[in-house]
Amino acid sequence: MPQGGNFARALRRRQRSISRRLRESRLFARAMHSPHHPIVAHIVPIRRCNLACTYCNEFDAVSAPVPAAEMLRRVDLLANLGTTIITISGGEPMLHPELDEIIRHIRRRGAIATLITNGYLLTPDRIHRLNKAGLDYLQISIDNVTPDETSKKSLKVLDRKLEWLAEHAEFAVTVNSVLGSPVRNPKDALAIAQRARALKLTNTVGILHDSNGQLRPLAPDHLAIYHEILEPDQKMFSFAQYDRFQQNIARGLPNRWHCRAGGRFLYICEDGLVHYCSQQRGQPAIPLESYGIEDLEREAARTKPCAPYCTVSCVHQTAMLDSFRESPRQVLADMIAARRERSPDYRPPAVLHVLTWMFLDGPASRLLAKLALRVLKARC
Ligand code: SF4
Ligand code: SF4
Repeated sequence: MPQGGNFARALRRRQRSISRRLRESRLFARAMHSPHHPIVAHIVPIRRCNLACTYCNEFDAVSAPVPAAEMLRRVDLLANLGTTIITISGGEPMLHPELDEIIRHIRRRGAIATLITNGYLLTPDRIHRLNKAGLDYLQISIDNVTPDETSKKSLKVLDRKLEWLAEHAEFAVTVNSVLGSPVRNPKDALAIAQRARALKLTNTVGILHDSNGQLRPLAPDHLAIYHEILEPDQKMFSFAQYDRFQQNIARGLPNRWHCRAGGRFLYICEDGLVHYCSQQRGQPAIPLESYGIEDLEREAARTKPCAPYCTVSCVHQTAMLDSFRESPRQVLADMIAARRERSPDYRPPAVLHVLTWMFLDGPASRLLAKLALRVLKARC
């Protein structure tokens, strides 16, 4: 049982976790109801980075921060479009001197605030300030156990930061480890995943793409580690880990899907232009202030030739919400089938049975699904 300050911190964490889940439920319900607003937008407050990972094409060493007033205006524009999750990325966003005010404004406008960082600038005091600003999620990506010429995002350097996050963060923390050709020792990804779990932080594993965001198949030793990392989460219900996209990416196989970037997912560069994603800068490259519903609908509908071998997982996940909205039974059946390919004895958790039952064809079950969504909205 936690005591004193620990008890107060545990209570605050619990309260914030409940608040996050309620707001996420509302997000899910809204995405189910309407295909016309962005689900996720990435914004770049500074392109400069304090590191220089050799596989990265999203940074420079010189850019100044975008003025805070301009960043707040961009958050307003995204909120006016109905954006539900705003993720601050970079470069290294913690180099922006007014990052906390940007986070506060995202929360004021009712969106979920997420931060992607290399973690180098985290201290206990900085984590407390992120708590106060209202950050919902932080993702830290760790590439190897010890620094090498490819990347300095290393467990050896960042382990103390992970301990501070585990101790002080009231927001949810995800540690992302990576596999793929630029990674010299695939076992590092397993060590990073195990360390994250030991600290009770969420762990994900990503697959590094080439400079165009395209897939490179995993070598057999990387693929084995990939499955070993996912194995302890087998009983968890998760879009990210059970869908066929991830399995195909790991095997180097193409995916058949419709990328809705430009509509459901937006990437706003440091110059305030809307792009499909960080890997397709230049398309459509329209200023955010003139981006409207026609642009959202046109770009969401457009077929992207880069889709079959795309590894940009957050765009995949927003597409899954739309697939679920359009054909829920098919998506649930696919998720169970994909899981059974890996484990023939797999028995779906009860929540999948309930969801499948809710979305069975027929007027009674359609009414039930509508009622369920209404309850979700009312609770938030
Ligand atoms: S820390 Fe992130 S933004 Fe900076 S160079 Fe590495 S991958 Fe790119
Ligand atoms: S398919 Fe979509 S998310 Fe993937 S690289 Fe192309 S535009 Fe970006």
